[in-house]
Amino acid sequence: MLTEVNIAIIGAGAIGLAVAREIAQEKNEVFVFEKNRTFGLETSSRNSEVIHAGIYYPEDSLKTSLCLQGKSMLYELCDRHNIHHKNIGKIIAAADENEIAQLEKLYEQGRKNGIEDLMLLSRTQLKKLEPYIEARAGLLSPSSGIVDSYNLLKFFYTQAKERGAEFVFNTEVIGIENTGAKYKVQIRDREGISAFISRIVINAAGLNSDKIAQLAGIDVVKAGYKLHYCKGEYFSLSSKYRHLISRLIYPPPEQAGYGIHITLGLDGRVRLGPNTRYVETINYEVDENQKQAFYNSAKRFLPLIKLVDLEPEFAGIRPKLQGPNEPFRDFVIAHEEKSGFPGLINLIGIESPGLTASPAIAKYVGRMAEELLN
Ligand SMILES: Cc1cc2nc3c(=O)[nH]c(=O)nc-3n(C[C@H](O)[C@H](O)[C@H](O)COP(=O)(O)OP(=O)(O)OC[C@H]3O[C@@H](n4cnc5c(N)ncnc54)[C@H](O)[C@@H]3O)c2cc1C
Repeated sequence: MLTEVNIAIIGAGAIGLAVAREIAQEKNEVFVFEKNRTFGLETSSRNSEVIHAGIYYPEDSLKTSLCLQGKSMLYELCDRHNIHHKNIGKIIAAADENEIAQLEKLYEQGRKNGIEDLMLLSRTQLKKLEPYIEARAGLLSPSSGIVDSYNLLKFFYTQAKERGAEFVFNTEVIGIENTGAKYKVQIRDREGISAFISRIVINAAGLNSDKIAQLAGIDVVKAGYKLHYCKGEYFSLSSKYRHLISRLIYPPPEQAGYGIHITLGLDGRVRLGPNTRYVETINYEVDENQKQAFYNSAKRFLPLIKLVDLEPEFAGIRPKLQGPNEPFRDFVIAHEEKSGFPGLINLIGIESPGLTASPAIAKYVGRMAEELLN
């Protein structure tokens, strides 16, 4: 039975795993608590698996800096450790004058963010690269890519274990009490409810991260930590669409997401998604009634697509700090010392580009933990 640990990480998604890998060392005693039977069963396995370039977010945001660092780190990691990935590039396509103006703004934003290789494409240039795509113009992002998220997560998990991290599955954190210098963490597993003491608590609980912060005693409404669930559904296209495109094809972004894009799996499979639907509860079913909207959206750029070739595939849910029609919100990655919770590190609102940024987020949190341990 656990009595006292140095570092408790809540959540074994991409973020909890990457952080565990970063800070695990025998002397650090890192324990990862996960309510599911194994790692990566929530948002980290329900996404587009895109290695994002970092174009969309403000230049001074964590989303930009951690996405850019994460992208380079991820390509290097994947190369070095044979994690299946491909640097296939992406095109944001514009169907009309309005969207062309949006592309120009994105190009400027991307340049401000330090992305040097973006290229505006004329219709002819775009057609040469993607003959089946119909658009007035495009923005090419050569550094975007795709990664096998399961293998990435497995790599983080295996290395974290090799470095001494302990994983406690089927165990839900249900209480966190600030006892002054340390935290009393209450857990529920098959045997019932028990508690242990931890010096540092890292909240990487994804869709539950606001609730975990609340459990610890933070007023999440006042802190601006309340999460909104924003569902993203995917439809697959039948196998005859394989190899029709060779890059990711996106529309210009929407208010709450990147827009329904045409994505490519590492196996060449083509899928459409995700849409953006704010929802009240976590339910991963795909609503068949969305099919027509997906079709309409994709048909603008892929005119040969047929409605009958779309099949509901899967859905993910974004842990969004930004509510409907609200302005941009950055990741929250905070040591809560100033709010009276020394040793509590919250990661809240880690939506896209969280997978891309995961190794960089881990370094960022690793530095915070290091300071606390010294
Ligand atoms: C539709 C969609 C598409 C996306 N596409 C991309 C993309 O293409 N590229 C990209 O970079 N990013 C993308 N993202 C974002 C990316 O998937 C996330 O940022 C990332 O997976 C977040 O990882 P996480 O570890 O924070 O969350 P999760 O993977 O959700 O992990 C959190 C873990 O905490 C556990 N947990 C929660 N509460 C408790 C508790 N009380 N006790 C114990 N365990 C608990 C959960 O069971 C879960 O396993 C997308 C997201 C969505 C939804």
